[in-house]
Amino acid sequence: MPQYHIWTIGCQMNKAESERLGSFFERQGYQATASAEEADIIVLNSCVVRQSAESRVANKLNALEALKRARPEVTLAVTGCWVNSNMEQLKEKTPHVDYFFKPGDCPPWLEREEWGQVLLQKPMISTYIPIIQGCNNFCSYCIVPYRRGRERSRPVAEIVCEVGELARRGTKEVILLGQNVDSYGHDLDGIPDLADLLGELNNINGLARIRFLTNHPKDMSTKLIETIARLDKVCEQISLPVQSGSDDILKAMRRGYNIEHYRQLVNEIRSRIPGVALSTDVIVGFPSESCEQFQQTYDLLSEVRFDTVHIAAYSPRPETTAARELEDNVPTDEKKRRLDEIEQLQEGIASEINARLLGETVEVLVEAKKGGKWQGRTRTDKLVFFTDNVDYSGQLVPVKIEYTSPWSLQGKTDY
Ligand code: SF4
Repeated sequence: MPQYHIWTIGCQMNKAESERLGSFFERQGYQATASAEEADIIVLNSCVVRQSAESRVANKLNALEALKRARPEVTLAVTGCWVNSNMEQLKEKTPHVDYFFKPGDCPPWLEREEWGQVLLQKPMISTYIPIIQGCNNFCSYCIVPYRRGRERSRPVAEIVCEVGELARRGTKEVILLGQNVDSYGHDLDGIPDLADLLGELNNINGLARIRFLTNHPKDMSTKLIETIARLDKVCEQISLPVQSGSDDILKAMRRGYNIEHYRQLVNEIRSRIPGVALSTDVIVGFPSESCEQFQQTYDLLSEVRFDTVHIAAYSPRPETTAARELEDNVPTDEKKRRLDEIEQLQEGIASEINARLLGETVEVLVEAKKGGKWQGRTRTDKLVFFTDNVDYSGQLVPVKIEYTSPWSLQGKTDY
């Protein structure tokens, strides 16, 4: 039986696209292999959002050059954000690669219609569903719009049909994906929005939970907030990247909102959706970020008290406005110091937030058993472990919390 190997790094969108690609290969009679050396076809699904990711892609491509020399019959394809529009240049740089295709695009060996009909062969209990590709925002530091192109929404009917089929085959939760889910639908006939899509998905039998990411603070609407509050399957969890606590830095980042707007949005979300969990993204060491501006970010995080904070140190991404126009002038050591400081702050905040759940019973959607323990997530996306001999896979289980940490919870079933 022919074998395929997909190597994926980066965001959930890449993971979702790799799962779909894997399903296509399996439908064609291929079998997955964990080792590139044994594969007949290898796909690298790449990421260049940070320098560290780009370096890993370069290393992987180098390693595969030797493999391709030893076994020239192997097909090697590269997709993801490493692939830019200049295919000729890419081919020159990496002649051992047979195919390049842009992230979200149809693989070159397939007809677009056939690609559109690929359904996941082995639906997961929790499954990622891309709903909108690309981004129109052009934040000054971000390479995504250059690589994933402009926004393209999938029609409501297509998504509802896919999620209905997945639910019929065992999926209990869907996580709708887009670089900016608040833009969903503006390019479709009738201009449906994310709230409309959630309303349709909420009616699907067998589906227990719906999540989505990522929201954009400048675009998130009151209609969406009310919809989250109203629909029983939509989880109380929102991913709302703030990026910086300084208005000047937000302006240089071209984010399109200020901190006052962000604060008001958080207040509105918390007043309409009780118990909501908020997560955010922060970049430290953006060009010219002063100690005072960093302190504003630190203070905002202390004030808002997010459940989760994803922190990155700025690295210039070629092609972006920030890389072209702004000097990367915060020293590496200082970026690291700021990153550590926020990590420490957030560890304390997450500890306190999670500790409030001690002794409480939470509803857990059980995904898998690993290392002898069942694991799943609460509606607010807290990772929970518990031990029990019954098979709870795919079930909603009440778990009484007996131990908490900043990163996860542990407990026992509470029937
Ligand atoms: S909203 Fe900004 S950060 Fe997010 S993908 Fe678009 S350009 Fe990048």
